[in-house]
Amino acid sequence: MTSPSVSFEVFPPKTVDAAFKLWDTAQALAPLAPRFFSVTYGAGGSTRDLTHDAAHVLHRTSGLPVSAHLTCVGASVAETIEVAEKFHAAGVTDIVALRGDPQAGATQFTPHPEGFKNSVELIEALTILDKFTIRVGAYPDSHPDAASQHANIQYLKRKFDAGADEAITQFFFESESFLRFRDQCAAAGIDKPIVPGILPITNWTSARKFAERCGTKIPAWLDEAYRAAERDGRTELLSTSLCAELCSALVDEGVDSLHFYTLNRPELTRDVCRALGVSPQSSLSNVA
Ligand code: FAD
Repeated sequence: MTSPSVSFEVFPPKTVDAAFKLWDTAQALAPLAPRFFSVTYGAGGSTRDLTHDAAHVLHRTSGLPVSAHLTCVGASVAETIEVAEKFHAAGVTDIVALRGDPQAGATQFTPHPEGFKNSVELIEALTILDKFTIRVGAYPDSHPDAASQHANIQYLKRKFDAGADEAITQFFFESESFLRFRDQCAAAGIDKPIVPGILPITNWTSARKFAERCGTKIPAWLDEAYRAAERDGRTELLSTSLCAELCSALVDEGVDSLHFYTLNRPELTRDVCRALGVSPQSSLSNVA
């Protein structure tokens, strides 16, 4: 098995303790020579400055490319573009361009009166800026707002047509979800890279809740497996082996890049990477 290239999502810290966790995560994962780190943008744009600062420091200390997430929620077009320009000034070369979720308490996304109406408009504006590699979200188990899987894939195609370079998927629990989606995208004429998003499960109860919210299918066998593992005190072992198995199945089917949702907890991600043959590069062993 050829080892895949990897990338890692982290979130920006809001406390000193969280800043140390992010630091530890970067220290543990940078030596694996990821293609990039990505830094999330809090719901409703709540971490605008923190995302900027975390992306800036991560890029400066690791020397690695950093992809800052950017959503359309709660900001005008001018404000959103200003954020993108600030990212660029801080050395951020890549953006994950997203519509974002509805604001707290709302069930439907409502654009800011002077804001981007959807992700396609944001991608078009970033394409015109011509400063960034543009990544977008993709949804193998479909998205709760999509009328059908066909509409979900057609919308992804619109995002690529608007200038996106690569898509990263929402997490999924079975390799078939991704592989079927990859085939459907190819049949729809999408020929740009679609990178599977992998969630190493550090806590099944929260992973399950998150999956319910974002429409990820939850197989019955997984519930059963975690119930048994909790009984035997073996959840960590189960998580490591399930995640390594999922990634190997994807790599066996020709997937050459994986994006890990680390949740700023590097251990499980690092163990899975090692199981896949992704090993530390000595030249990157120190985050300065
Ligand atoms: P889009 O792809 O724009 O829309 C989702 C679906 O809704 C589409 O598949 C389409 O079927 C339907 N749809 C939407 N608009 C239209 C339209 N105008 N016409 C027809 N159909 C439409 N959220 C954050 O708040 N911060 C983050 O940092 C963050 N990072 C993420 C990273 C990744 C890799 C992913 C996959 C998701 C991330 N999210 C983040 C969550 C994301 O904001 C939500 O999933 C959001 O609901 C959709 O954003 P999007 O840009 O992917 O949606």
